[in-house]
Amino acid sequence: MFNLGSVSTPSSGGETKHVRVLILGSGPAGLSAALYAARAELEPVVLTGTELGGQAGLTHTIENYPGFPDGVGGPELGELFQKQAERFGAKVEFDTANAVDLSQRPFRVTTDNGEYLADALIIGTGARPNHLEIPGEYELTGKGVSYCATCDGWFFKDKKVVVVGGGDSALEEGLFLTRFATSVTIVHRRDTLRAGKVLQNRAFNNPKVNFVWNTVLTEIVGTDKVTGVKTKNVLTGEEGLIETDGVFIFIGHTPNTQMFKGQLEMDEGGYIVSNHLMETNVPGVFVAGEVTDSHFRQVVTSAGMGAAAAIQATHFLEKEAVNA
Ligand code: NAP
Repeated sequence: MFNLGSVSTPSSGGETKHVRVLILGSGPAGLSAALYAARAELEPVVLTGTELGGQAGLTHTIENYPGFPDGVGGPELGELFQKQAERFGAKVEFDTANAVDLSQRPFRVTTDNGEYLADALIIGTGARPNHLEIPGEYELTGKGVSYCATCDGWFFKDKKVVVVGGGDSALEEGLFLTRFATSVTIVHRRDTLRAGKVLQNRAFNNPKVNFVWNTVLTEIVGTDKVTGVKTKNVLTGEEGLIETDGVFIFIGHTPNTQMFKGQLEMDEGGYIVSNHLMETNVPGVFVAGEVTDSHFRQVVTSAGMGAAAAIQATHFLEKEAVNA
């Protein structure tokens, strides 16, 4: 067994803390894992990362998390998750992991503020939005280009916006933008939406929403701010220009797994491979949420995986204690 609480001085000059369970990420996966690990009296530490509450924390209203028949704000739900985990002894640290050594236990995790040694690690670092990688996108990010309607929608009051994508995110965020914008033009590369029927019906019935089918963006135009987007019809090759004040891009995600490359098994999309027990190829390292799941990507499924990962981490540490 490893001694909890041993302290040494890391090369970074900060403090090295030894914890039983370290959880990376403060989205639904990480905070649910924290609740379960705390209730198992493992005194888990959660490193929030830069996005407190994860992507759910950026969502205006979550309507499909059970127990909230009228919906709940994303940040509010995150706060409730955190409060509940802390009530049982979880510690939430505003710190970000930036390197890990999983070659031996305890696992070594280097953060912005110091270093942790962890007997078990639960990774819930989530995923980040994909970019179109077209001219003007990078230059105009924050000047009309956005990946978060909840964060930036307000700036487009009485303005026109373009939304890119045909999935649930594009429609959900596009519908949210109708609160502010005068028109929301959804540009999709096919003529069939990937989004669920409920959202499709809402979008088709919203007079502010219109669709441009079989079309991709080739450039975002503007100097100090977005003024339009250049488009191309993928079937006819016809090029066009849509005048707009904003461009919201919702074309999928990339998992935040860079620092685990070469140490944990990943699929071709960079998602960490896990089994149904949320175990990775390294014993003692568990995963939960969007870092391992490109399919469901729901608050409830990520929270469920977080709980499962913590239960398995608890079994792992208990088994080790018995065998010690
Ligand atoms: P998604 O389902 O993968 O949809 C991405 C969309 O972007 C697709 O329509 C795709 O087109 C398009 N796309 C991808 N790359 C593109 C590119 N380079 N240029 C132009 N278009 C591109 O992603 P998502 O909407 O973020 O949803 C991900 C998951 O989260 C889904 O499982 C979804 O159900 C879930 N989700 C659920 C809710 C909810 O239940 N309320 C809300 C948000 C997300 P194609 O269709 O042609 O591939």
